[in-house]
Amino acid sequence: MENTLYIAGPCSAESLAQLTATASQLKEIPFMYFRAGVWKPRTRPGSFEGHGAEALPWLNEIQQQFGYKVAIEVASAHHVELALKSGIDAFWIGARSVTNPFTVQEIADSLKGVDIPVFIKNPVNPDLKLWIGAIERVEKATNHALHAIHRGFSVYEKLRYRNDPNWQIALDFKIERPDIPLISDPSHMGGSRALLLELSQIAMDLHFDGLHLEVHHDPLNAWTDAEQQVTGPELLQILSNIRFRDRTDLLTKEILDLRKLIDSLDSRVLEILAERMHIADQIGQLKSENNTTIYQAKRWMELRERNVQKAKQLGLSTEMVSQLLKLIHQEAIRIQASYIQ
Ligand code: PEP
Ligand code: MN
Repeated sequence: MENTLYIAGPCSAESLAQLTATASQLKEIPFMYFRAGVWKPRTRPGSFEGHGAEALPWLNEIQQQFGYKVAIEVASAHHVELALKSGIDAFWIGARSVTNPFTVQEIADSLKGVDIPVFIKNPVNPDLKLWIGAIERVEKATNHALHAIHRGFSVYEKLRYRNDPNWQIALDFKIERPDIPLISDPSHMGGSRALLLELSQIAMDLHFDGLHLEVHHDPLNAWTDAEQQVTGPELLQILSNIRFRDRTDLLTKEILDLRKLIDSLDSRVLEILAERMHIADQIGQLKSENNTTIYQAKRWMELRERNVQKAKQLGLSTEMVSQLLKLIHQEAIRIQASYIQ
């Protein structure tokens, strides 16, 4: 789609030759910023942590040779100072930095009065307030419009994705800050080339404003994030496979009728939940009178197992149903706990 904002480039700036080779593959992609990590936040020490300030002149070469605007990650006031001196065009604050309000404040203070685009990634933990808080800190300092990047959230057990998308947080973000363009980062979310198209498609269907994609001229030999990077031609192929659908709400009679049904079902679901919680309340009273504990492991496991089986029969997602049951159980415990002095 023509007004989609793209950020593309390698995970790390490895050498001038690597940046040039990658940049030369991107000429046909209408991206706005060529990205490259100069300071790399690594989970464990011992791996490549970026060339630091040494790589900044390489990015100046890219600006001159290709006419691209360049963006890097900044994680301290010192990074900001060096990057501003080098004429870097835009910054992003990485997911690890966004978890720390001191770091974000330090970066924000160093951006006072500076007119530069800043992209703020979601924190590694699923905390919408922390993400929005980081945006508020930076927007108080700069007068340039900000952007947010949704890159998913860390989980202990990596299942399908490197970072859990938790799309609902991104949608909640859009409700809280409809004025801030939201960009999707399917590279760090999926952690795998194979997932880029699927995740980009979901992001576009959820009305994201742009895509942030890692590109390397030789992904298999990339020094960082090798599994998730693609070549320029591969990226072009992915972008051409995304279906940009009409974003206007389709208000046909058929959809409006179906929505009426949904609305009445939602209302019934709530009535049933209220009835269920009322019964949990009565049980809480009895437990309290008889001095028994609220939590009963055997009962909870049986209930969960029975309903997950039922969900399967009904063709519902067992993951969704088990999460829903946990929420319901948690609320019942909260209600029953009110009887305990
Ligand atoms: C990056 O974009 O290179 C990066 C380190 O991402 P994140 O902060 O999302 O992990
Ligand atoms: Mn990366």
